[in-house]
Amino acid sequence: MITLIRNVDLFAPEPLGRQDILFAGGKVLAIGKQLTIQGEQVDEVDGTGMTLIPGLVDPLAHITGGGGEGGFHTRTPAMEFTEASLYGVTTLVGCLGTDSVSRTLEDLLAKAKGLKNEGLNVYCYTGSYAFPVKTLTGDIERDLLLVEEVIGVGEIAIADHRGSQLSVAELARVAAQCRVGGMLSGKAGIVFVHVGDGKSGLKILHDVAELSDIPLTQFYPTHINRSQKVLDEGIVFAKAGGMIDFTTSTNESCLASGEVPVVDAIRQAIEAGVSPDNISLSSDGNASLPVFNDRGELTSLEVGRVGSLFEALADCLKANMPLGDVLPMFTRNAANKLKLKGKGIIAVNGDADMVLLNSGFEIQSVWSRGLQLVKDGRAVVKGTFER
Ligand code: ZN
Repeated sequence: MITLIRNVDLFAPEPLGRQDILFAGGKVLAIGKQLTIQGEQVDEVDGTGMTLIPGLVDPLAHITGGGGEGGFHTRTPAMEFTEASLYGVTTLVGCLGTDSVSRTLEDLLAKAKGLKNEGLNVYCYTGSYAFPVKTLTGDIERDLLLVEEVIGVGEIAIADHRGSQLSVAELARVAAQCRVGGMLSGKAGIVFVHVGDGKSGLKILHDVAELSDIPLTQFYPTHINRSQKVLDEGIVFAKAGGMIDFTTSTNESCLASGEVPVVDAIRQAIEAGVSPDNISLSSDGNASLPVFNDRGELTSLEVGRVGSLFEALADCLKANMPLGDVLPMFTRNAANKLKLKGKGIIAVNGDADMVLLNSGFEIQSVWSRGLQLVKDGRAVVKGTFER
């Protein structure tokens, strides 16, 4: 199948104006004005008045579910295929969290492969919150070299009572193994770091960079908007060259307890002088979101959503941020950091992962590796057991 989208306002993610985009075999073949093609069956899409953006890249999603911190009944459900596709998220990195006993890496890998079979692009972090890092094959380097989907370690927890309270030397060792595994496998070998609201903040990352030969850029910390304190520390980390990640899944309880809304977090970081290239966003989809009452007692649990990534992008536009300025934070930045080749961009020879939006910024069509997942706002591909 050859598809030609005509006369669309292209953000690749940088704004390229009105263009035609030709794609087939999962790849973008040509971008230009008034492209012509002869002798083939071509599916033409009129993009007049519409906007085309790369499929969103989500560097942290609990695709097999997470939570469980209030007992077995609080384990959250796994992500369904359309929970990503209907929101324009075509690339995800799956991970484990607090629970690496009833949740396993084998199950995570199987889910990633399943979602890939169904049409998404899915990678995994090996490990979980815990140290020593649990792996699939015995150690971090072997996982990176031998398991296609594994691109790093994560989300290892720092500054959190649920983490393993690991030392500087221990984290340096994890990062070193991840770095060497990344070099040997041609992958990013990134240590994706869950930052809790504990008192030590990001200090251990700076300590590793100072006391060992591991650079700060080996780490990719997330939940940087969880409080003003963590955001302030994240700004320092990013200005030192690191990449910081904000979480888009939220609820009123999180915001009431001091979480910085994504739009404010981006604004503050940019105003403080952080390069826009050093900011990304992730959904933390299918993590549990606790709801507390006035007395601070847990009253119920909600579930994070991968779709919150697209909603956060829409919030940025509502706050008058130019699409060309914020879109890289939802697409190219994470893909670059994680060395996901051909992802988060629309470019010749890149993957045909694209989202077509109407003038009201509503999703009309989604393609992943050239396969159309959404048409006229409706899922045309669903997960195997979705109805
Ligand atoms: Zn986390």
